[in-house]
Amino acid sequence: MNNDDNFILGDIPEIFLPENEDSFKNSYCSICGAELFDDGFMVEKAFVKNEKLMKPELIFEIHVCFKCIRSLNEEMSKESIEKIEQFRKERFLNDYYEKLLENEEYKISKWLKYCTITHNKIKDCSEFNIVGFFVQDAMFYKPFPMAVSFEGMMEVEEIYSKKTKDVIDDFFDSLPPDIRKIVKDQGKVFI
Ligand SMILES: [Zn+2]
Repeated sequence: MNNDDNFILGDIPEIFLPENEDSFKNSYCSICGAELFDDGFMVEKAFVKNEKLMKPELIFEIHVCFKCIRSLNEEMSKESIEKIEQFRKERFLNDYYEKLLENEEYKISKWLKYCTITHNKIKDCSEFNIVGFFVQDAMFYKPFPMAVSFEGMMEVEEIYSKKTKDVIDDFFDSLPPDIRKIVKDQGKVFI
């Protein structure tokens, strides 16, 4: 672990890694195509529970570089950003994650155990996404890696203004068409 006052870094857990790879070295931003190793980046993976296999099945994953995240934030209204911040403070499992850090608990299953919004156990959710922040071959434990259920994502959507929804829609229009279609048809993007 590389600890600092502002952020904590650890190895990238397998669940976040690209299929058959042990690094994001050869991966690109899903929005702008930049190499992920050039800057920090966010990874989001969406899963549905496969009743037959009794285990979650990946339906899509997106990688977004920090530059694209910053430009999305700049497009969003100040009011929407404040509302989201407030929601994060009130609803996210921040105390739970802080406690894990205090106890030096870095097992990823602990971090992804609950939906950060509804606080339900992820193993009881039929659809959920996981989100983490990375730099090169390391994952940030601050900002926290987290899981969010479909129901939780619906709640977040409700606090967005129409304008913010349009900004987010435009942003995700830059996704490769196959992923864009899956996101539109059967998924939700949390961040
Ligand atoms: Zn990008």
